[in-house]
Amino acid sequence: MAVDPTPVFWNRILEVLARRLPSQQAFDTWFQPVQPRRVSDEVIELEVPSLFFAEWIQQHYFEILNECVQLALGSAPRIQFAIRPELALVPPVVEELASAAAPAPRRADERPTVLRELALPDSGLNPRYTFSTFVVGASNHMSHAAALAVAEKPGVLYNPLVIYGGVGLGKTHLMHAIGHRIREERPEAVIYYMSAEKFMNQMIAAIQTGSTLAFREKYRRADLLLIDDVQFLATKDATQEEFFHTFNALYESQKQIVLTSDKPPREIEGLEERLVSRFNQGLVTDVKPPELETRVAILQKRAAADRFYLPGDIALLIASHVKGNVRELEGCLLRLIAYTSITKRPEPTTEMAEEILSEFVHAESLAIEPDSIVLVVATHYGITRDQLKGKRRTNSVALPRQIAMYLMRRQTTLSLSEIGRFFDRDHTTVIHACTKIERLLASDRPMRDSIERLAEDIQEGR
Ligand code: ADP
Ligand code: MG
Repeated sequence: MAVDPTPVFWNRILEVLARRLPSQQAFDTWFQPVQPRRVSDEVIELEVPSLFFAEWIQQHYFEILNECVQLALGSAPRIQFAIRPELALVPPVVEELASAAAPAPRRADERPTVLRELALPDSGLNPRYTFSTFVVGASNHMSHAAALAVAEKPGVLYNPLVIYGGVGLGKTHLMHAIGHRIREERPEAVIYYMSAEKFMNQMIAAIQTGSTLAFREKYRRADLLLIDDVQFLATKDATQEEFFHTFNALYESQKQIVLTSDKPPREIEGLEERLVSRFNQGLVTDVKPPELETRVAILQKRAAADRFYLPGDIALLIASHVKGNVRELEGCLLRLIAYTSITKRPEPTTEMAEEILSEFVHAESLAIEPDSIVLVVATHYGITRDQLKGKRRTNSVALPRQIAMYLMRRQTTLSLSEIGRFFDRDHTTVIHACTKIERLLASDRPMRDSIERLAEDIQEGR
């Protein structure tokens, strides 16, 4: 049987990196959160939480990374980045990989959370999304209480529990927290977490390989089924049908179902009435944007978890400017940690925070429409909007299309899947486009200039 060398190789690279990087903090900030997708002699694919992150590594650590890779592997593979926003900050990668490569004996007082996650790889739960890391405030306390209740008495109180609300407000976090809590109580419980999109993709794959029966049975054995972003099911009739039956099977055997969506079920256009009414049988609660105090508390908690000293006035400064979305709040903090580390200061200054905020708030205040990106890029390359969004793959349209995808990733808050949907393609195509353009940006000066000019034109609405 072929053994995937990825964890072992990556671990070796990390060891060399840890010795060569200028500081421990540089290592913790920029390499801890990286997840290796594939490491071989030809290519290294690394998953990072954001485009900013990939750019940062490319600009500041690319040489050193290449060097360490050569030292560790004795070969010079290509290094590629893929963006996976849910990686967020600092999961304990080193420990995880070390233990995956060679199980180390543990002291009794160490909390074995990471190992447990690894031992149960199927659940897909993010170890960081627990009740203890969730900050409760007026904006989310109903949903938090409902999630806790469901975790204490699954299948009994509210079934399903539906949590809805805008992007980056903690829906996925709460959903995973339920999973963790139930697992703590009942380690043998069968828990599945996945996005509605993944549910659909797996169902399609099952149909193609003639294994629908196995697919059905798998999910109907769940004690807890967590389906994220069910609005995705809108208008996907076959998937809704399958989901309806899975739902009923679980519901009838009193197994807990938890769903999230961006709107209340009733308002999801294209969601079948029978699903809407099933969803409404349970409890539907919402999460709203957090108020100032909660935003400050989230920043403080997050900083403490990263052992980063965040003075109160700076937390307040950030929290009063970044309002709509917790992910962005965390993004600001990440940058602040980075700046502090790069400038080798013992703690962040107000000036640094202001500088970060000026980029951030500026970018946020000008909401850029995906259509305007398409228009600017298409005009620049002398093709039509339809050609840009179309299927042809000749270089004269494929490159502009990839540039448009990249800029959409950079200049809007759309997720990879949403961008994919916009172009009627899937998210892996978008990742491919972004990595390709990033590589061009790093290697091709004229191309870089012209893409930066396009970005400015879009920013200024020209
Ligand atoms: P959603 O699923 O609603 O889009 P997520 O659950 O992915 O949002 O949350 C986005 C990020 O913000 C995650 O890193 C999450 O841990 C964090 N977050 C959101 N709400 C809270 C909260 N109340 N306390 C702590 N962290 C939070
Ligand atoms: Mg989510």
